[in-house]
Amino acid sequence: MKLKIKTIFSALLPFILIISAYIFFIKTDTMTEQQLDIIKLSPYVTFLIGSAIALKFNRNREFFTLIILTLCFIAINYIQANIGKTAAKDIYSIICILIPINILIFSFLKERGVLTLWGLIRIGFIISQLLFSYWVINSERRDILGMLNKSILPAKLSSITSISEPALAAFFITFIILVLRHIFYKSSQDIYFAGVLFALFFVLYDYGNKILHPIFLTTSGIILIISIIQYSYSIAFYDELTGLPSRRALKQDMMKLGVNYSIAMLDIDFFKKFNDAYGHDTGDQVLKLVASIIKDVSGGGKSFRYGGEEFTILFPGKAINDVLPHLEELREKIAKRGFAIRGKDRPKKKPKSRTKSSNASKLIHITVSIGGAQKNENCKTPDAVLKSADKALYRAKKKGRNCVCK
Ligand code: GH3
Ligand code: MG
Ligand code: MG
Repeated sequence: MKLKIKTIFSALLPFILIISAYIFFIKTDTMTEQQLDIIKLSPYVTFLIGSAIALKFNRNREFFTLIILTLCFIAINYIQANIGKTAAKDIYSIICILIPINILIFSFLKERGVLTLWGLIRIGFIISQLLFSYWVINSERRDILGMLNKSILPAKLSSITSISEPALAAFFITFIILVLRHIFYKSSQDIYFAGVLFALFFVLYDYGNKILHPIFLTTSGIILIISIIQYSYSIAFYDELTGLPSRRALKQDMMKLGVNYSIAMLDIDFFKKFNDAYGHDTGDQVLKLVASIIKDVSGGGKSFRYGGEEFTILFPGKAINDVLPHLEELREKIAKRGFAIRGKDRPKKKPKSRTKSSNASKLIHITVSIGGAQKNENCKTPDAVLKSADKALYRAKKKGRNCVCK
């Protein structure tokens, strides 16, 4: 439950920031010229800080999106200074379509660093768009500019917004793709980019407003900085393979344990043999599945990947006798759950026709041994309780495995 609230909050965070930015924008009515000047410069400061952080953390998605935001800021300032002129209108048509397309493209590219060959190719990609736009505007290619403003939607939207219909479609499609990717791949990054896209939409929608765009662009920069911090936090505190909190998170949570608590150590039985028989990749898949069962442990336990095929569960405020039935239930759940493993005789290359043997998969059963301990007179610190749980685990192994010992 606690985790769900955290997940929902993290998904809503970029949109909460945008709403706060809008409330701030309304309040700018009463501000002095000097204060407004500071706001107008704030995007540059945010983008500079954001780019430095993105470079330091080697995050190219955020870095290149910050470049796009900077170009967007420069373009909107130009458009506002030249309102009514053809060049300003043309730049507006071009950025309306290029912004969602670039955010979509960058969101699909693999993380390959900024100061690398891949980074240079991406810079080249942005520069070539700038040169292309310059050429289209200067040589007055009305055919291309006309295409950007073509009516493609059944409803006439030009009375509501100056954003062209192809651009509206590009914004909408990109937004949906980012949200879907966030839901299905559980990537926090995608929802932050959806937030940035949302903010940029309003910047372009109300492009004539001199205060809205610096506020919303600064907010977009802040969203990208949070995205980098959030990602770095998740790689530091979560195990990549299983998605469970890592040993570093365990160490932190152990320090937060109160007066009474229990700790359990789990270890998969004969996992080395399993790896030898089915290969390391299959071992990884099984480890993921076992971890997903351990994650849902009942009795108020929080699970961690201790390392390798070992897991730790913390039960704050619980005595060992209250915890044992839940550990027993968990052990039984894992032992009963069958894992479908592809047949060993499966050829490495995919056969042209499906034969019976290539398709064969068998159900195998995995068991775990569990040791539990609670805080008491002999074990006064979380480290001592964990060691005691480890000793209990050793006893469970000696007893014949697939059992719980305290
Ligand atoms: P026991 O019942 O005594 O625990 O036997 P065991 O084979 O499980 O114990 P042992 O400590 O000898 O071996 C643990 C094995 O777990 C070694 C390694 O091959 C495997 N293992 C550890 N981490 C991973 C991992 O991330 N992926 C995979 N596939 N295997 C792992
Ligand atoms: Mg082990
Ligand atoms: Mg083991």
